[in-house]
Amino acid sequence: IMVYVRLRPLSKKEKDAGARSSVRVADKKDIFLTEMQLETDYLRLKRVRGRHFVFDAVFHENTGQQEVYDTSTADLVEAVLQGKNASVFCYGATGAGKTYTMLGTVSQPGVMVLALKDLFSKLKDRSKDGDYLVSLSYLEVYNETVVDLLSPGRPLIIREDNKGITAAGLTHYQAFSAEEVMLLLQRGNQHRTTEPTRINETSSRSHAILQVTAEYKVRMETSTITRIGKLSLIDLAGSERALATDQRSLRSIEGANINKSLLALSRCIKALVEGDKHVPFRNSKLTQLLKDSLGGACQTAMIANITPSHVSFGETQNTLHWADKAKEIRTKV
Ligand code: ADP
Ligand code: MG
Repeated sequence: IMVYVRLRPLSKKEKDAGARSSVRVADKKDIFLTEMQLETDYLRLKRVRGRHFVFDAVFHENTGQQEVYDTSTADLVEAVLQGKNASVFCYGATGAGKTYTMLGTVSQPGVMVLALKDLFSKLKDRSKDGDYLVSLSYLEVYNETVVDLLSPGRPLIIREDNKGITAAGLTHYQAFSAEEVMLLLQRGNQHRTTEPTRINETSSRSHAILQVTAEYKVRMETSTITRIGKLSLIDLAGSERALATDQRSLRSIEGANINKSLLALSRCIKALVEGDKHVPFRNSKLTQLLKDSLGGACQTAMIANITPSHVSFGETQNTLHWADKAKEIRTKV
């Protein structure tokens, strides 16, 4: 699988708090992480230790949305048009830029919207008589329950039949343009579960999964064939929660459940890396839903999001280690 790292700019809040950058992007693939510590004699930061990582691409803080899309996802959209499955994950701590990368804003649309735009324009060109169908579903896994973000209501039940794993009753919305999809996703995102303790912070404990199915008729030399491909775009919950351990409070039950989903994802990744016969997809809702987007014949990309702030050094280090591990996964395309 392809693994990318995206560094976001320091926020105003971080700058005002005196944050320094502990991350340096050397060129298009290399990234250096330096731990800073307050020197005892002077109020100055000193370098303690550092580490160098290499990825398929590293996006520096001024990289635009289109470049991130072109590098990480455009090839996967092409694969979907060839009738394959593909998926893109955003991983990282809360505030690191996952939702910005995936969804973006109306003026700076992210990977989800740029992928649909690309998909629509290619389908228009390539389909026989404009005969194509794009349908999408958008759901959330929060606290091990699955909720339809396009039509919120009761939690959905996951079923496994001969066609694979599905969430029963999930809305499949037929879309006609990327602009319409942006509004739909923005609205869907507002339905993501908000943490009661952090009113302005949406969704740091929820995983959001957008699945887009593209079906079209294409003219071959002597016949017409139908191609179907599926693209999954996943905005994972904040990875820092995976470390929460307090056993008693409700917050920690949620933490443990995210822990469960992210942990299950890590376990599956480990099993895939090591080529185990048994990959434990059944251990969480997230991995059940992503079974055919992670194992099997699927093309996968991971975007690890990080902040440069030295205050978040620990989280950044964890994210980079995780991403480094993910590089070793081989899917069977
Ligand atoms: P996450 O989803 O990982 O919790 P967000 O995507 O919500 O983080 O990003 C946190 C804040 O940083 C948001 O205000 C977002 O607009 C901003 N941000 C994130 N990435 C970038 C970027 N590459 N360029 C500019 N602003 C960004
Ligand atoms: Mg987010």
